[in-house]
Amino acid sequence: MLEFNEVKITRILNPTSIGLGDFVINPFMGCEFGCLYCYVRANRVVSRKNKPWGEYVDIRINAPELLEKEIIKNKPKQVLLGSTTECFQPIERKYKITEKILGILNKHGVNFVILTRSPAILDYLELLKAGFCRKIYFTLNNFGPEFKAGLEPKSPDFKSREQAIKTLISEGVSVVPYFSPVLPFVSDFSGIFMKLEGAQTIEFECLNFNLPNIRDIISKIVSVAPSLQQDYERMLRDREFYTKVFKEIEEDIKNAALSAKKRYNIYIHNFGGYFKNVYEK
Ligand code: SF4
Repeated sequence: MLEFNEVKITRILNPTSIGLGDFVINPFMGCEFGCLYCYVRANRVVSRKNKPWGEYVDIRINAPELLEKEIIKNKPKQVLLGSTTECFQPIERKYKITEKILGILNKHGVNFVILTRSPAILDYLELLKAGFCRKIYFTLNNFGPEFKAGLEPKSPDFKSREQAIKTLISEGVSVVPYFSPVLPFVSDFSGIFMKLEGAQTIEFECLNFNLPNIRDIISKIVSVAPSLQQDYERMLRDREFYTKVFKEIEEDIKNAALSAKKRYNIYIHNFGGYFKNVYEK
């Protein structure tokens, strides 16, 4: 059962080393979409012991009021919205916290970058076109509905995200389609560059096998495709195999990009790396 709480916080601009801004802003704590592979699940600052991720949202009702004051004090050059939450999740329609925040950033001439996967962002097109939205990283994917049901059952469907990306591009908003997570032996890149022909660059992030709940993620994948069990298990323990699989994926993406005359970036996580969530509150 989803739980919503109105909360007051003491600070809304949080310094960050992510590189997409000097501060992050998160209008909510928690997320209605509750993706299984969400990095925030492992973040001890925002995760709760008594409520699973995806089942609570704190609405930071005084965030706009705080932002007005903190902008003057901190003079941010660029802020990143949505590092640990989805700014355009359904509850935003009721509270309009993100809307107020975008209005304040525009009013003070502060550049911003947004991470999202929600087509509801289109409700704020005018705010995005006011001249300070530097970039939107819009997450999408194209795995089948059975995989989606296991990995991100509550997030918006891929078709509507694809359409939202196209609309943003046609409106002149700078948007980077962010294809994530790339699932070995499942993801299909043929046609992705053509489908999003208006995008100059598409970024790809491979499934992070270092996530603390990677076994739960693998269970969901192999429950849909049992024949992948062995290969996924091997990805966990065999560095050579892991490297080879992701190299092949990179090659496929490179070829798809070349034939579409587009740019791409791909992020492949280190084998056996330590999972460190760089996103802050
Ligand atoms: S939408 Fe983003 S913040 Fe929300 S659960 Fe999914 S990955 Fe996490």
